[in-house]
Amino acid sequence: MKFEEFGFSDEILDALFYMGFEKATPIQEQAIPEILKGHDILASAQTGTGKTAAFLLPILDRISRSNSGQTQVLIVVPTRELALQIDQQIQGFTYTTAIESISLYGGGDGVEWEEQSRALKKGVHIVVATPGKLISFINNKHFNGDTVKYLILDEADRMLDIGFYEDIISIINALPKERQTLLFSATMPDKIVQLSKKILNDPKRISIAISKPAEKILQATYLCYDEQKVPLLIQLIKDKPAYKSIIIFSSTKKNVSTIVSALKRKGLEAAAISSDLDQKQREEVLLAFRAKNIRILVATDVISRGIDIKDINLVINYNVPRDAEDYVHRIGRTARADTSGVAITLINPDDMRHFHAIEKLIEKEVIKMDVPPALGESPEWQKSGPRRGGGGGRSRNSSGRAKPRHKGNRKGGSGNRKRPPKRD
Ligand code: AMP
Repeated sequence: MKFEEFGFSDEILDALFYMGFEKATPIQEQAIPEILKGHDILASAQTGTGKTAAFLLPILDRISRSNSGQTQVLIVVPTRELALQIDQQIQGFTYTTAIESISLYGGGDGVEWEEQSRALKKGVHIVVATPGKLISFINNKHFNGDTVKYLILDEADRMLDIGFYEDIISIINALPKERQTLLFSATMPDKIVQLSKKILNDPKRISIAISKPAEKILQATYLCYDEQKVPLLIQLIKDKPAYKSIIIFSSTKKNVSTIVSALKRKGLEAAAISSDLDQKQREEVLLAFRAKNIRILVATDVISRGIDIKDINLVINYNVPRDAEDYVHRIGRTARADTSGVAITLINPDDMRHFHAIEKLIEKEVIKMDVPPALGESPEWQKSGPRRGGGGGRSRNSSGRAKPRHKGNRKGGSGNRKRPPKRD
């Protein structure tokens, strides 16, 4: 569907032209007409589907036609990074208009607070904010919600995960009852449905297959022991110039540092991003990665959701994410818009059953590969994970194997598997 068909103003159409947006994505096709009609929306859509433009474009169209200089739009998001990212998209779309926006987030200094207070006083049309920061502005009476007509909650599931429920309710209590509310969430757990019942008025439900990664992502896994992970990682990345931009996700901060040091020892420049860094440092690393000044980013879950970095060619899951939905989010960093990408997950015996849960969720068996023989022998794939207490029985070797397993010296039975050589 072409954007002209929505009846957008010329200003918005010009902005879309300059941004290179030609056709609406499925979430945009579904959401934009309903939002333009004034309906509340409950949408499940993950990052990468074009959800941000799906809520921004119709709202921007509406406010560009009104002459009010007051704050009409409030967008509440879980993280500072997402606030900045949305604010950047707003600036892109409103380049040719007089619409002004501001993002409010935690972690700033006194000067930032002063600037933001001044901007709010002067009047901005759109405020993008994290809940905690917004509450402080509300409490200090620097933010007045009385004029808000449109409230958007983005990544609502993540906000509840972080513990922002009470803050969200307080924010909503500071807004007029008469408003249009759009709730976007990557997943739709019960708590989101409950929240939606409380704050939405007869919403239209929109759902974009949330649990299926984009078809263009080539997914694969390696069955390996923990000791094999670092050397395997290096083999996967070294001398592969086609992978210009790589993200490695790890579940722990400790592993992030181990991985970065190991890569550096092999002459592979990598940067880490985890909660060890403060907000400013995280932003700097993300900026350098976006600008392609850093080839390899090693990250904990802090950035796995919501952040839009274009043209990542390879995503490696150093561990299997415990939450199957997180797998979809992580590999969603690749194959955005028109690019294709590769997502590789390293599975140790303890993670096998978690990966099986992921396969159930994505309704697809992902190729399982053995580590290269030089790294030793791979564990057997078992959907329910390794047997505890040495119970015998042959493990199944079923799903989607990419190549025959090398036989090695295995004598059969799970207890006799050859372990990988120890690294020095
Ligand atoms: P989002 O799901 O909102 O994080 O968007 C993912 C990426 O797709 C962003 O970089 C958007 O700029 C881009 N995008 C969104 N909608 C379109 C579209 N209709 N055509 C081309 N790119 C788009």
